[in-house]
Amino acid sequence: MVQLFRPAGRFACTPQPVRIKQIIEENHRIKSFFFDGDLPEAKPGQFVMAWLPRRDEKPFSLADNVPLTLTVANVGPFSEAMHELKVGSTVWFRGPFGRPFEPLGRRPALVGGGYGVAPLAWLASEQRARGQNPIAIIGGRSKADVIGVEKFEEMGVPVLITTNDGSRGEAGLASAPVRRLLENREVDSICGVGPHGLLHALAELAQQYSVPAQLSWEAYMGCAIGLCGMCEHEDGSLLCVEGPVRQLYF
Ligand SMILES: Cc1cc2nc3c(=O)[nH]c(=O)nc-3n(C[C@H](O)[C@H](O)[C@H](O)COP(=O)(O)OP(=O)(O)OC[C@H]3O[C@@H](n4cnc5c(N)ncnc54)[C@H](O)[C@@H]3O)c2cc1C
Repeated sequence: MVQLFRPAGRFACTPQPVRIKQIIEENHRIKSFFFDGDLPEAKPGQFVMAWLPRRDEKPFSLADNVPLTLTVANVGPFSEAMHELKVGSTVWFRGPFGRPFEPLGRRPALVGGGYGVAPLAWLASEQRARGQNPIAIIGGRSKADVIGVEKFEEMGVPVLITTNDGSRGEAGLASAPVRRLLENREVDSICGVGPHGLLHALAELAQQYSVPAQLSWEAYMGCAIGLCGMCEHEDGSLLCVEGPVRQLYF
């Protein structure tokens, strides 16, 4: 039976105003926003809908729940409007929504790039608290695109870095060290957040090495509560309530 993740809690359906209390520039196009509010019931992998009145409402993965934290890449009109906000500005939130990452594996490979690293760092801290021993594999086009390394290192989580141009870490794609780790049985499961190309590569590796994978897929979203159908995934699921984290068991 399909498990649907319907929203619950204070921010469930009516957007709630929350002020920005701190902004950190992670790199040339990514900022982290720390809000003056908490979502104690939220789990890594879940997302919120952020609304800027008269602009739009868009989904963002939680980079943390206490305080509510988002890491946003400036790629278009809405994310640019987010980047123009200042400390003290208000964003309206609904959520948390969606299926989170589940505790899976003793030594998970956490694979991501760009803003995807932020929810994975939160996931790593929860996994460490549960006694799991994650390894982070962070990919980027170039060294300027690699963020969040120190967050993993502070937790004692080993980090492998890849860049397409070889300017930091190993040259190539993040999937290459993941294959090596699987081959050497140094990891027993995969958690991935990133572009669809990376997620497809991770799904293939999971199948090839018969390990479970949890992959967080993105899509344009409208309602976030399973009604509008805008976020239908390639397997027919609605990512807002049956994802964004989809499980693969081999
Ligand atoms: C579940 C979920 C979680 C998400 N979490 C985050 C998050 O934590 N941080 C975050 O920044 N965004 C996240 N997104 C994406 C976010 O919702 C917006 O799509 C994104 O901010 C772009 O919106 P926009 O209006 O600024 O640009 P759009 O007009 O939607 O896009 C502008 C252009 O950029 C391209 N584009 C869109 N997204 C990206 C991207 N991520 N990288 C490169 N090019 C892109 C589009 O194809 C388009 O050509 C998430 C989406 C989903 C569904």
